[in-house]
Amino acid sequence: MSATLIDGKARAAALRAEVAIGVAAFVAAHGRAPGLTVVLVGDDAASAVYVGAKGKACREVGIISGEHRLPADAAQADLLALVAQLNADDAVDGILVQLPLPRHIDADKVIAAIDAAKDVDGFTPINAGKLAIGQPALVPCTPSGCMRLIRDALGDISGAQALVIGRSSIVGKPMAALLTAASATVTIAHSRTRDLAGHVARADIVVAAVGVPGMVKGEWIKPGACVIDVGINRIALADGKTRLVGDVDFDGALARAGWITPVPGGVGPMTIACLLANTLEAARARATT
Ligand code: NAD
Repeated sequence: MSATLIDGKARAAALRAEVAIGVAAFVAAHGRAPGLTVVLVGDDAASAVYVGAKGKACREVGIISGEHRLPADAAQADLLALVAQLNADDAVDGILVQLPLPRHIDADKVIAAIDAAKDVDGFTPINAGKLAIGQPALVPCTPSGCMRLIRDALGDISGAQALVIGRSSIVGKPMAALLTAASATVTIAHSRTRDLAGHVARADIVVAAVGVPGMVKGEWIKPGACVIDVGINRIALADGKTRLVGDVDFDGALARAGWITPVPGGVGPMTIACLLANTLEAARARATT
């Protein structure tokens, strides 16, 4: 048996096309396009690449993309003042403060200052709390993308055993909340978990979000399981080149799983597509309140 590959690139393209149609309808109804503003502090090269990719993706679906760059030594007060200014700006529907922030800035404080109605990353305590208690919320993009892939592959997952490996606030915890809301029976594994192999062997759905290349072994996977690999790890090859791999031993898992996401081309492309969907959702909600 060989697993069906989940094509995140194609699914993300379909979602972006859906968003583009929704954006056109929003413009027709409200006479303006939704706006997403990204704030980048410092000159982290990877962050600059992400921010550039987000701007391009916005423009492709008709969302107005704004960008503010602050120097690496910017004062926290200046960043908070910028967030307050964007909160008050009616043309801005989504605010995204690119993480990580420089060490002298309290990221929790900055995130909490974002108007929850514009929190398209879903990271504010208000949106995280709403998700945790099952109220409608702006949901973090990566777990939201994983959930769409899982639903496409499996349909109804009520009663399924789901294992989320990783308990971060941006992936693991919201992922577990979404799976719970979909009536799966959810286990969260983390760095102190005993017998990870045993947990994986019982899971119909495995979501790996750890950041350790190939840590989930193929032989642990329950035959037919749906495997969602969030990990993005760059490893060095013998020839001096590098390659991106996930947290799952892909070749081993391919032989046992029912469905599996590749890295790259699985979860990754869904994240930006879900950001666009969240921006449209925020714009719609703000336009009706
Ligand atoms: P994180 O470092 O915040 O969290 C990692 C989690 O793994 C922690 O909760 C920790 O308890 C758990 N963990 C560590 N060792 C473990 C072990 N031996 N067994 C079980 N659990 C263990 O990371 P994160 O921000 O949640 O990201 C996780 C991975 O997902 C990273 O590779 C990151 O690059 C990737 N990521 C991808 C996307 C995407 O768009 N595809 C988005 C976000 C993160």
